[in-house]
Amino acid sequence: MEILGIDIGGTGIKGALVDTENGKLLTERFRLLTPQPSKPKAVCKVIAEVVKHFDWQGPVGCTFPAIVHHGVILSAANVNKAWINKNAQNLIQEACGRPTALINDADAAGMAELRFGAGRGHEGLVIMITLGTGIGSALLYHGELVPNAELGHLEIRGKDAERRASDRVRQAKKLSWKQFAARLQEYLTRVEFLFSPDLFIIGGGVSKEHEQFLPRVHTRTPIVPAELLNDAGLVGAALAAERISDGRPSAE
Ligand code: BGC
Repeated sequence: MEILGIDIGGTGIKGALVDTENGKLLTERFRLLTPQPSKPKAVCKVIAEVVKHFDWQGPVGCTFPAIVHHGVILSAANVNKAWINKNAQNLIQEACGRPTALINDADAAGMAELRFGAGRGHEGLVIMITLGTGIGSALLYHGELVPNAELGHLEIRGKDAERRASDRVRQAKKLSWKQFAARLQEYLTRVEFLFSPDLFIIGGGVSKEHEQFLPRVHTRTPIVPAELLNDAGLVGAALAAERISDGRPSAE
């Protein structure tokens, strides 16, 4: 099925048509800047421009970098606070003028990796961790998503984990790869203790450089880098929209 995937990030909002049969992009990515401040009206306007660019008449899947509970935003760690308690699914659907599924960004990436990427064929409990501006997480059990896991907000040394081990913190604090790996080790060891997963998938932009830090992280659970990288959000968003058009809940 062809679906327009849209990925809302802190700096850019991008879209591409996705083939949900094979997880491939059918078009180039089209990217516009995320308006600052990233308030609902301004963001919806940009989303409408993305839909218009593709002249798209079919279903739309869209990611959001916060808790998405039945369409309603319940947190805003890295996005404008004006979204909290808003039914973003309805707002974005109105802006698109098309049936729209909204899903947390890390949940989308996890679904995409499980279907087409590093988690392909894995049964059991797969935990995807995305390291970016924040830390996102997806829990996937026997192929099904347990939505809105928010493991980036586990407390480590009195702070949200994403304030110690996200890629933003690595850059801001100019951490060496060794220091970054040590922080990640501490974090993943905690997650492993709490969930006993069968596989960790590490995504987010920094996962392109996995050779610099993953070999220094040792857990009982196998750890693999994400494979879809930049496309994971777009592909996962499309998978969420596919579920809706099949009459299933989008996942959240
Ligand atoms: C948010 C998550 C999001 C993650 C990555 C965290 O701060 O709470 O919902 O998935 O950042 O964007």
